[in-house]
Amino acid sequence: MATYKLFLLPGDGIGPEVMGQVRRVIQWFQDKGVASFELDEGLVGGAAYDAHGESISEDDMKKAMAADAIIFGAVGGPKWDGIPYDKRPEAGLLRLRKDLALYANLRPAIVYPALADASSLKKELVEGLDILILRELTGGVYFGEPKEITDLGNGQQRAVDTQVYETYEIDRIARVAFELARTRDNRVCSMEKRNVMKSGLLWNQVVTATHKDGYQDVELSHMLADAGGMQLVRNPKQFDVIVTDNLFGDILSDVAAMLTGSLGMLPSASLGAADEKTGVRKALYEPVHGSAPDIAGKGLANPIAMIASFAMCLRYSFGMGEWAGKVETAIANALDKGYRTGDIMQPGMKQVGTVEMGDAILAELETLA
Ligand code: NAD
Repeated sequence: MATYKLFLLPGDGIGPEVMGQVRRVIQWFQDKGVASFELDEGLVGGAAYDAHGESISEDDMKKAMAADAIIFGAVGGPKWDGIPYDKRPEAGLLRLRKDLALYANLRPAIVYPALADASSLKKELVEGLDILILRELTGGVYFGEPKEITDLGNGQQRAVDTQVYETYEIDRIARVAFELARTRDNRVCSMEKRNVMKSGLLWNQVVTATHKDGYQDVELSHMLADAGGMQLVRNPKQFDVIVTDNLFGDILSDVAAMLTGSLGMLPSASLGAADEKTGVRKALYEPVHGSAPDIAGKGLANPIAMIASFAMCLRYSFGMGEWAGKVETAIANALDKGYRTGDIMQPGMKQVGTVEMGDAILAELETLA
């Protein structure tokens, strides 16, 4: 049995609480003899700043670089609001994304049957929803140069951000999209603004060319990103994989997230390039939510997003898709049985805390083993 090196970065606030439940799931896999994990743990965010004066230490960066996958909790909180900008908690996460060159951000939006009522859309529009937004994460307008505000000297200022993409950046994210689609419903919708942006035109051309280069078995469609936003709330189930750039992906993935009801339910993955020898991609898995200072330390946090992020790790880093599916089914079954943390509480359901939700998911996993 292969041994996978996992580097855990629980972070701040509810991060360590929800990570505690992932540790139990990892232990369950070890006890069952399904997989073997070598665990190490580091500090990130405010916790790292308190210990080392940096949002992540060089030593922990080295461990992150050497790991097969990083499982990340959440960072930040009012305690660190006043610290220097380059040492703020989020800087640790941004450094990890940058140094590991994690260019592909996967945000699934899944509506568990038991929670279809929690969406802001009508139940029939979201029930059974299972889509994946793939956002380009290291290029585009958030990083393009020039990026500046200049003083025009007449009481006016001028702000410039630069949207820039090169062929290789679009090609590699398109390949990830097609490969992911093959493990799902085999459909990709690419979104850009080719009608008004040169970068959109290039995006469209490159995605089309990459599709012809070995991915013609995958159904490809194109949509303007604004129309895509509209379609996401009109009829979200029409999509399988949506691939888009950094800016549109930021917005569209948040729209898709809200279709599912609660922040505490949403996992994510960020993947980098595949190693030339092993084929293994650098990878970081994290819940979409933050450190939730308002409920931190109270045992109330919903651990589902964090546990579902670990399921993504099993699927995308370790090729254990079947076991990932079992973890996701265990989550769905615990919800079906009426277990709810406060953030997803509904009348008539059984309100539980972080650990009890972990208990319920592990009990369901046991029945699926
Ligand atoms: P947040 O996601 O931490 O919380 C928003 C709301 O959702 C809060 O009411 C919170 O209690 C609730 N919530 C979030 N996750 C939950 C869970 N698992 N279970 C139950 N309820 C949950 O966002 P925020 O309040 O805007 O930010 C708080 C801190 O987190 C800030 O310092 C922010 O910078 C940081 N943050 C970090 C990340 C990250 O680490 N990736 C992401 C977003 C925000």
